[in-house]
Amino acid sequence: VTERRRDPVTGEWRTFATHRQGRTFLPPAERCPLCPTTDADAPTEVPWPSFDVAVFENRFPSLVADPPPPSLAGGGVYDVEPAVGATEVVVYADDHHASMATLPVERVRLVVDVWADRYAALGARDEVAYVFVFENRGETVGVTLHHPHGQIYAYPEIPPLADRELAAARAHIEAHGTCVLCDVVAQERSEGVRLVASNEAFIAYVPFAARFPYEVHIAAHRHVPSLLDLGDPERDALASLLSEVVNRYDGLFGFPLPYVMSMHQAPTDDGEWQSISHLHIELTPFHRTADKLKYLAGSELGAGAFLNDVAPEQAAASLRASSTSSTSSA
Ligand SMILES: [Zn+2]
Ligand SMILES: [Zn+2]
Ligand SMILES: [Zn+2]
Repeated sequence: VTERRRDPVTGEWRTFATHRQGRTFLPPAERCPLCPTTDADAPTEVPWPSFDVAVFENRFPSLVADPPPPSLAGGGVYDVEPAVGATEVVVYADDHHASMATLPVERVRLVVDVWADRYAALGARDEVAYVFVFENRGETVGVTLHHPHGQIYAYPEIPPLADRELAAARAHIEAHGTCVLCDVVAQERSEGVRLVASNEAFIAYVPFAARFPYEVHIAAHRHVPSLLDLGDPERDALASLLSEVVNRYDGLFGFPLPYVMSMHQAPTDDGEWQSISHLHIELTPFHRTADKLKYLAGSELGAGAFLNDVAPEQAAASLRASSTSSTSSA
């Protein structure tokens, strides 16, 4: 079964890819499919003996360019569509034990360039309405391969969280005449209490109403709808700040902090998003202490209403105090 079904109660589309149950789960390092190919008789997903950054289609895709017809017909209140789109894997390095924290900033910058190139290429496809760049880091967040990598999904419509944010941004423009994230960035820079780090083009801050204890957002000072609107020095600044935040995460409790990284940028349908979308990255770790996780339970899952045990100002102070010279590969 490979298809998309629309839930008529919420209006959200959900993807079904039942073949994914057979995917590789935490193989030993010597059989890692994201490592370079060193033995021609045992090729991995990457056919070269070494590489900087590699991108390829996920071998267990949930969205594809040429999907099979749905397994059943819709009807009545139910809509079903082929699972059209793309799912790609971005491998950050050929070193199995590297991470976003230990990679040199120049390599992170190369990853930023790859994200921008794939955003342009996938977004140019007629059937793609939204290009979503993300990374799942650590077994806590369901990672099945430890090799440093992220993913890119190209969806045929704007996914629910991005859609909700864009609707709020549109309402803010109608009410105040300004971009909400431009206003947030200006207020965070002037108040400073929730800042984690900043440089000439980006800030990293714990959101005023964060969902997770150590949630951090990274946003451009300037109003930039997508990665394609960043100049070279801004791409360098993004790479450097992302690296710094992940290093601060790893210094926080003294181990590589598992997180989900999500990038929100302009949809690639034919809507008018230039003034509404403001590029940002959201990092959401699940830890609330070194050995306690925040679970999504009744209020979060059943009501969508997050409860957070850590004041964002306190979380930001802890992250500012966290050493960035931690050895996160340990
Ligand atoms: Zn590997
Ligand atoms: Zn803005
Ligand atoms: Zn967002």
